[in-house]
Amino acid sequence: PATDIGFLLRKNPENVHTTELSYGIATVFYPEATYNSCTVALLVEIDPVGLVRGRRDSVPDLLGHYVNDRPYAASSFLSVALNKVFTSAMSGQCKQKPELAETPLKLEATISALPCRGGEGFLRKLFQPLGYEVVCERLPLDPKFPEWGESPYFRLTLLKECLLKDLLSHLYVLIPVLDKDKHYWVNKAEVDKLLTKAKGWLPSHPEKETIVRRYLMNQRNLTEAALEKLVEEEIPAFAEQEEQAPLQEEVIEKKISLNSQRLDAVVAALKGGGAKRVLDLGCGEGRLLALLFKDKAFDEIVGMDVSHRALEIAHSRLKLERLPERRRKKIQLLHGSLLYRDKRLEGYDATALVEVIEHLDEARLSALERVVFEFARSPLIVVTTPNSEYNVRFENLKPGHFRHSDHRFEWTRSQFQAWASGIGKRFGYEAAFQPVGDNDPEVGPPTQMAVFTRPEPVPAAGVTP
Ligand code: SAH
Repeated sequence: PATDIGFLLRKNPENVHTTELSYGIATVFYPEATYNSCTVALLVEIDPVGLVRGRRDSVPDLLGHYVNDRPYAASSFLSVALNKVFTSAMSGQCKQKPELAETPLKLEATISALPCRGGEGFLRKLFQPLGYEVVCERLPLDPKFPEWGESPYFRLTLLKECLLKDLLSHLYVLIPVLDKDKHYWVNKAEVDKLLTKAKGWLPSHPEKETIVRRYLMNQRNLTEAALEKLVEEEIPAFAEQEEQAPLQEEVIEKKISLNSQRLDAVVAALKGGGAKRVLDLGCGEGRLLALLFKDKAFDEIVGMDVSHRALEIAHSRLKLERLPERRRKKIQLLHGSLLYRDKRLEGYDATALVEVIEHLDEARLSALERVVFEFARSPLIVVTTPNSEYNVRFENLKPGHFRHSDHRFEWTRSQFQAWASGIGKRFGYEAAFQPVGDNDPEVGPPTQMAVFTRPEPVPAAGVTP
């Protein structure tokens, strides 16, 4: 019965429930409660005068204290009320019917006036990646005076079959992201609150930087701290795998010394493009870095990885601490994640991504694509990845298995080429493909490589460059 939602929310549909909040009153009631459909309403009445009364800080904008949108617009007041009134539901607990909390339900949530200065596009960018069907309608400033035009408020409806706690946590975090004010002081504790509440979905959300920044009210040091923690949380997956199954990929690929053929092919592609300042993203233990470092063709080399451990190994492989200052300057190791836009990666001649993309969930690949092809955007980008068709040629690889247990996917040649062409179209690159290693007539080469370049703009007719 749909009315079972009352158990989850710990609010009996037969009654009206009121809760006092420091800034007003929250009322929960059920406009509809039938077997097939049940609607629960949360009404938050804010007392704008009460908010100002007794406040010592004499803010000059007195009128603004009394005439504002706080009683009408969904804001941090609503989020705090949701959390207070539906505490156990938000944390996924249901004493009477625990299985309900773990059951995806056909849910629909409507927020009657949600501010969104970024327009409908921004609303969709926030909610669609979380799997919601989004219906939104921009509200007029005043329906009686259509000539006054539109307001920045939307009536938003979200539909999805999901756990109630997930819906509540999405609303809890994203409502204040859309509003420009927060009614309480944002401090360090807010970072932890955000990371706890959004744990299951924020790291893979394509708008995570914006969400974090706006949730933390644009406070730079808090935003950086939160993003840094999100990056840290990605590390264990790969590092642990590596400890459990060290070098499995190398063992499998060893017979054909694929690793060195691959690195040689990448160095040749970088040199072929005349690159002098090069990024190696997901540099791992620094094998490519060591080759680039020795090569006089390159002036400046930067390796970046999300794993501290890999960077330590790279550091000792390159014997960085023993180098004279002048040589030392040629190379730099950065800790960072490819899923976050990073200003440090801008302005290089070329970027290498060697056997990295297959370590990311396909759902997160679009974040990497933007970081590398839209923001860092070097004119030459070289990407390598296994060709899964070749796996049948590895005697010590069980059929249907990946070459490394941390690989999230391994693509055939046509899958890789389709991906690369899509990237090319979206970000204005041309992709050329090269086989690496023995090019088997049937299954192709063991490694596939795409070399992305940006075509020179065609000069306008009649203009001499
Ligand atoms: N390019 C190296 C390492 C490949 S293994 C080589 O060819 O030897 C994949 C590497 O990608 C690992 O070092 C892993 O830590 C790194 N990696 C995985 N996810 C990452 C992310 N989100 N950001 C940066 N590096 C990442």
